[in-house]
Amino acid sequence: MSGMSALPAPASIPAAGDAAARLADWLSRHRRVFALTGAGCSTGSGIPDYRGENGAWKRPAPVTWQAFTGDPAVYRRYWARSQVGWPRFGQARPNAAHRALAALGRHGPVAMLVTQNVDGLHQRAGSPCTIDLHGRLDAVVCLGCGERSPRAALQPRLDALNPGWTPGAAATAPDGDADIDEDAERVFVPPRCARCGGLLKPDVVFFGENVPRARYEAARDALAAADAMLVAGSSLMVYSGFRFARMAHEAGLPLAILNRGLTRADALAGLKLEAEVGATLVAAAAGLGLPVAM
Ligand SMILES: [Zn+2]
Repeated sequence: MSGMSALPAPASIPAAGDAAARLADWLSRHRRVFALTGAGCSTGSGIPDYRGENGAWKRPAPVTWQAFTGDPAVYRRYWARSQVGWPRFGQARPNAAHRALAALGRHGPVAMLVTQNVDGLHQRAGSPCTIDLHGRLDAVVCLGCGERSPRAALQPRLDALNPGWTPGAAATAPDGDADIDEDAERVFVPPRCARCGGLLKPDVVFFGENVPRARYEAARDALAAADAMLVAGSSLMVYSGFRFARMAHEAGLPLAILNRGLTRADALAGLKLEAEVGATLVAAAAGLGLPVAM
């Protein structure tokens, strides 16, 4: 853990212990840290990431709001794939990254945690102040009457609408999605609101859709009250996350980034750590005297 190693370390990828020591030191110098997290915090829970370490799409870009609401084939395809992908997504458990951030929130300097993830795993791990910037996949909202319902309750309805339906060979994809057979997608019967017949949408912010204003303002106000910003496990390629790093920079707040691979805000960061997110956060928390139960 010593920063005085006699051996020259690679400049861009420090050992996990070195990264943790530097992060612990950085955290110890701040009292109200605004933390922003992304997919890199949840890959350890078995939820795949959309992007590779260079920030580019690893797979076809996700469904847009315009296509979901305007193209019946896209709507049908979304729900067919969700019916296959949801059970595994819904069973995901918090990992070391979530537990370390929860400890840093309860007993350490993390005053607010804003996540771009839609899995609710920070709350499950016990993070006290969390904003789900892009919503939650465990809820469904009707675009007609606005009724909200649990995603888990929709699963048996999807089964009942599609008796005997089989997706063929399936592979898990990000955000409760799954790659399935195209023929199976075509014959799937998608759900409608039981009350008004409207389209049902997961309560997440789709690409091409804005973050609800009140939610954005709550996050912005939390950043304004912070004395530093930490990004953990995000490439910040999506503007709705990147803009907080830019605001922090413009406000003169110290910015630290812990992420494997490039991020859109690397040039704005005073500290950039390329290391495994969960192990580094756990070791950094331990360095602050905050043990994380494993
Ligand atoms: Zn409705």
